[in-house]
Amino acid sequence: MSGFEVPSHVRGVRDQVLAFMIERVEPAEPLLHLGGEPAAVRLADLQRQAKDEGLWALGHPVELGGGGMPFADYVYVNEVQGRSEYGQLALGTFTLQDSLMLHTHASESQKKRWLEPLVAAEIWPSFAMTEPEVASSDPTQLQTRATLDGDEWVITGRKWFTTGASRAAYTTVMCRTEPEAPGHAAFSMIIVPTDTPGYTIVRETPLLGIKGGHCEVLYDDVRVPADNLLGGRGRGFVIAQERLGPGRIFHAMRWLGQAQRAFDLLCGRLTTRQAFGGPLADKQLMQQHVFDSYAQIQACRLLTLHAAEAVDRGGDARVEIGAVKVVGARMLHDVIDRAVQAHGAAGLTDDTPLSHMYRAARFARIYDGPDEVHIQSVARRILKTYRDGGAWSFSG
Ligand SMILES: Cc1cc2nc3c(=O)[nH]c(=O)nc-3n(C[C@H](O)[C@H](O)[C@H](O)COP(=O)(O)OP(=O)(O)OC[C@H]3O[C@@H](n4cnc5c(N)ncnc54)[C@H](O)[C@@H]3O)c2cc1C
Repeated sequence: MSGFEVPSHVRGVRDQVLAFMIERVEPAEPLLHLGGEPAAVRLADLQRQAKDEGLWALGHPVELGGGGMPFADYVYVNEVQGRSEYGQLALGTFTLQDSLMLHTHASESQKKRWLEPLVAAEIWPSFAMTEPEVASSDPTQLQTRATLDGDEWVITGRKWFTTGASRAAYTTVMCRTEPEAPGHAAFSMIIVPTDTPGYTIVRETPLLGIKGGHCEVLYDDVRVPADNLLGGRGRGFVIAQERLGPGRIFHAMRWLGQAQRAFDLLCGRLTTRQAFGGPLADKQLMQQHVFDSYAQIQACRLLTLHAAEAVDRGGDARVEIGAVKVVGARMLHDVIDRAVQAHGAAGLTDDTPLSHMYRAARFARIYDGPDEVHIQSVARRILKTYRDGGAWSFSG
């Protein structure tokens, strides 16, 4: 386990990212929330500044042109970058999951076509597993199928919640390619350029009023070359698991930044707002909010650092990652909720960032697997050690 302080070799770059976030990204949020051309221009400007100042893609591997930070160091940078949902866009890390996936599994020609422009943020990725017709928490039920016709895959099905599909250059699609194979082995990943005939965006679904580019996509006999297969046939689940594991830690890292920001707003409000003869900070019921938030953030931060170290050590860290996904998402929701409460009606307006943060935080308990699925998986893994005659040791 590492120390709890920001390591000295990370402090400089972390401070730079923190200043970038507070001085440039957070003030741009109201414009960026509106979307459209002015938002795109401002975002491109922020991206150019981040590149010029050496703050671009700090978590990407060095061989891809990134900063190559180990997971355990990256926590400290990602947590300040997470203060705003636009941090990862402005600083070039929104492509990290897709870049790592292509880095590991793509062929040389796939890398040339997709990976290099991805890291430079010249193109956007998107990823499609979830389908409207089946409970996609259990992806063995996914229906979208691909069959080989000569040297082409023909894809038929319907996906939704394909985030970013409307601006993406391609979607990596989880397809049933091996109908005879059992369970997980029936699926493969196929790269589909979004301008392929038959690839149709049916609608973008706003979530709790936020337009996040979550698209429903129809695949109507979509034909792509056979070598658009990513990895091997039947490898879809392995690739998805490898992708989603680190992704969940990246989420948890960023949630810490959101929580810090909400905590600052909570405490700032309590010390400046007067009611019933004194500051809100003197009311014990409000002090409970401070205590609960402190304890949840601190516990989540240690869980995140622990999970990041486990990944750096080379393990799959499924228990640690599953735990931090659930605890982190709940922490995020609860801390922002308390900050909203302390602001009274103002907390529900767009006069503070809290309303947007609160709604976006609710998504976290569902995306990349709902809480219940991670709870089940963590508990099963722990119980298996006992069933096998061992015990779960917290001391490593
Ligand atoms: C903001 C956001 C972005 C997303 N982006 C993407 C994306 O880019 N690509 C993509 O493919 N998907 C994406 N998703 C979809 C997301 O991954 C799925 O919604 C999620 O995996 C759950 O699948 P489902 O919606 O089909 O829920 P279902 O599987 O229908 O589950 C419904 C509910 O049942 C409960 N449940 C499920 N399993 C169990 C269990 N074993 N035990 C107890 N209760 C259970 C849970 O409460 C769950 O919420 C996104 C979702 C959101 C909210």
